[in-house]
Amino acid sequence: MNSTVLPPGTYWGQYQDITKSNTHLSVAERLWVAWYAWMQNDVLATGIMSFAVHELFYFGRSLPWVFIDSLGFFKRYKIQSNKVPSLREQWDCAKFVLLSHFTVELPQIWLFHPMAQFCGLSTSIPFPSLWTITYQIAIFFVMEDTWHYFLHRALHWGPLYKAIHKIHHQYSAPFGLAAEYASPIEVMILGFGTVSCPILWCAFTGNLHILTMYIWIVLRLFQAIDAHSGYEFPWSLHHFLSFWAGADHHDLHHEKFIGNYSSSFRWWDYLLDTEYTPEALKRRRGEKVKAKKTQ
Ligand SMILES: [Zn+2]
Ligand SMILES: [Zn+2]
Repeated sequence: MNSTVLPPGTYWGQYQDITKSNTHLSVAERLWVAWYAWMQNDVLATGIMSFAVHELFYFGRSLPWVFIDSLGFFKRYKIQSNKVPSLREQWDCAKFVLLSHFTVELPQIWLFHPMAQFCGLSTSIPFPSLWTITYQIAIFFVMEDTWHYFLHRALHWGPLYKAIHKIHHQYSAPFGLAAEYASPIEVMILGFGTVSCPILWCAFTGNLHILTMYIWIVLRLFQAIDAHSGYEFPWSLHHFLSFWAGADHHDLHHEKFIGNYSSSFRWWDYLLDTEYTPEALKRRRGEKVKAKKTQ
């Protein structure tokens, strides 16, 4: 590609120009700068990139679960083995999610660049170091999980449940695509945690790159889709990281409609005694028996 001169008006022409004068930049940084230079409109550039990242990773991460369900792979690891979603059900769910993305989320994503600029998020190069990206995302996971726990728990209060959260609970045995199957109001309430935690962090520290935000959103999408997958494997993350919530935690929430309100971690449910796992039920029964004996 270096030997041929590409037309200057095209994206790859821009990339070539930037490469010539910025040899110190990494390939990812050059691709990034070329995108903004080629678009010549930062609001559009960020808006399109944000929407594309969301769609690509949401459906890209859900698709393997659709194949696993339809082809019957890993049947023995399915949590509610008698409730495998049909292709029709998954297609109907995907249509609902797509409609919500285009009607509710797209206009909001368009506001992302002005909001990011207002809050001081960086869109320039160089990219932050791997360490900065990692520790900031770890903090966002903890912050979002806290937001999610309390707001999700509130959404289970009778009137709010009926008016908003019931839609998400249409599937008592969830599957990957159902992660964002929810009322637009719920998407806004719970999505607010995902977007506002990094914004809040940036407001206090003035140190956040939009790339870190994208990686965070992608990882949060993966977490939500995997938690809805309906599969519990011997290699699932919570076997190695005992405080990670994972699919068995959230699957039970969909099956029983009670407890396990957190998104990523188990500590809030444990601390506030809303855990719904066989171990927690056993522990509660044991405590009741103990209390009766001491009376
Ligand atoms: Zn719920
Ligand atoms: Zn759910």
